[in-house]
Amino acid sequence: MKTGYLIDMDGVVYRENQLIAGAAEFVQALTATETPFLFLTNNSAPTPEDLVVRLQHLGIHGLSRRHFYTSALNTADFLCEADPHCTVFAVGEGGLLAALNERKIPNDTIRPHYVVIGEGAISMEKLSKAHECIERGARLVATNPDNWCPVTHEKTRPGAGATASFLEASTGRRAYYLGKPNGFMFQQARRKLAGFTGSAPEQVIMIGDTMETDIRGAFEAGMQSYLVLSGSTQFEMVGDYVYQPTRILQSVGDLVEEIKTGKPGNPMYDQPTEPGARRVEHLGIRHQTDIFAFHKPRPRPAMTK
Ligand SMILES: [Mg+2]
Repeated sequence: MKTGYLIDMDGVVYRENQLIAGAAEFVQALTATETPFLFLTNNSAPTPEDLVVRLQHLGIHGLSRRHFYTSALNTADFLCEADPHCTVFAVGEGGLLAALNERKIPNDTIRPHYVVIGEGAISMEKLSKAHECIERGARLVATNPDNWCPVTHEKTRPGAGATASFLEASTGRRAYYLGKPNGFMFQQARRKLAGFTGSAPEQVIMIGDTMETDIRGAFEAGMQSYLVLSGSTQFEMVGDYVYQPTRILQSVGDLVEEIKTGKPGNPMYDQPTEPGARRVEHLGIRHQTDIFAFHKPRPRPAMTK
């Protein structure tokens, strides 16, 4: 069966500036076997070209811009489809500005149809301008719903979702969130993947480290999903969610042999696929009562809306 992969980046391929063990071999195996794949990231700051260079520095070569689909590109695709002659006031970095520019969506600081919020490059001056545009009738769109993003195991940074929340509070307008887990991100990614080979893969599998975006989005789009434990999710947390991954792996390194040989490997945990089978009963401790709360680190707000 021809399989295509959608692959999240942060926590799957790298963490901060460190390549995750086995990730280079994994990408090599995909390339060598001509398996279609697409990196799918909610980070709207970099352009696809920036991501090519970033992976080169980490030792992954042979990729081009077509291997990357960011939430900034997804937002530009959405605006083109939903409202082809729209104008925007964008608050974000190069990846977002380039994506809008590529799609020939004009910037308008006076009476835009949309205020578009991405990662980074935020100042009170820009937020005030965005607020004024919304008061004059602009609709609010964000590249992704992430309130915070992991930087290291101990450190996080604010995400586009947090900035959009600021404007939701100040204007009373609700934002529309693109990127994962929005089905439009998965639908477009699937379309791109099919475009690589001229025919759609028979199955598409999402690989990610975040339950709220990668696994939820894949589940809602009717795709299989593999959760890797090399990023933001620990094994004990999985049972807290109503949607579950198809498989749980330590890292993408676990898939190298499987992709090379075409034979299923030995995943850490496989979800039963038979209809009606119980899916989460042996997934470890679920902290339903919070009895150990005082041993836990400071609780973080939800990663997405
Ligand atoms: Mg991630």
